[in-house]
Amino acid sequence: MYEGLHAEEAVGPAAVSTGQLPPPGVVAAFVREAHERYGEVTDGTVADYIPALAKADPAWFGICVAGVSGETFAIGEAALPFSIQSISKPFVFALVCEALGGGRARAAIGVNATGLPFNSVMAIELNGERTVNPMVNAGAIATTSLAPGANAEERWRFIREGLSRFAGRELAMDEEVYASEAATNQRNQGIARLLHGYGRMYCDPDEATDIYTRQCAINVTAGDLAVMGATLADGGVNPVTKERVLEPERCRRVLAVMATAGLYEQSGDWLYEIGLPGKSGVAGGIVAIAPGKGGLGVFSPPLDAAGNSVRGLLVTRFLSERLGLNLFASAPAG
Ligand code: GLU
Repeated sequence: MYEGLHAEEAVGPAAVSTGQLPPPGVVAAFVREAHERYGEVTDGTVADYIPALAKADPAWFGICVAGVSGETFAIGEAALPFSIQSISKPFVFALVCEALGGGRARAAIGVNATGLPFNSVMAIELNGERTVNPMVNAGAIATTSLAPGANAEERWRFIREGLSRFAGRELAMDEEVYASEAATNQRNQGIARLLHGYGRMYCDPDEATDIYTRQCAINVTAGDLAVMGATLADGGVNPVTKERVLEPERCRRVLAVMATAGLYEQSGDWLYEIGLPGKSGVAGGIVAIAPGKGGLGVFSPPLDAAGNSVRGLLVTRFLSERLGLNLFASAPAG
């Protein structure tokens, strides 16, 4: 039976957080080792609730680490494009915070895991979809509805160009994935209209759902995810293009929200095992961020029951431990 992160695994000695990535040769060797070690894992199934995603080859497997000095370490299908899906959420949240000010975005969307008091019985009854923070669909569609612009075209351009600055290259939408999801996203349309009823939608709800569906269909690679993550790790400056995309004080807020809710109902397990802010997407991507050090992008389409890439979880755990990235890891001073 597939146990995911519940499975105890000796990945080798876990290094503690060092303040910077280990030397390039060490990073390259561990990236290679992670690819070899988990290449044979066949657990998980490719997402098919968006029909176009079902065409993915379960064998695709790419890893990339990008350091804050701009160096990258890639292996496997790290240059193969796939749709960013939910990984767009933290980056669009970042752009909206930058445009509106973090305080306004926080008030309009919320940043809690449940948004309910510690002793709430409702918190037990409610499922994840009703939770409002920018990492789950309700909050993410609300975030998209806050993108500045006089019309849908301008809002979409704000998002596509903003995500491109994070990646350091012009990103484009996958038309087939967009059309496939637009034809089957009645649930997201319902969420947007419900939020509209509660006064938590900031442009027309159908327009917001359409732009959100487009943002999810933007194509990226594991290499792009690593650079996008490294930008959040580098106080908002893209370490490859050197362009400032975000103010440093926004970066740490975005990372806090990712740590709270980046992996849906597995966010606690993720933080417990990996100890980094991260975000996954249903096309099989995962991004993890080691503040001040770098970003990690993994692409492998087979997912576990929570919708997270099986190999992606294993690779991030392995590299977090071996590269000393876990934010909570320390050793006695003496
Ligand atoms: N576009 C997908 C949705 O909204 C993204 C889901 C995901 O990546 O988890 O359903």
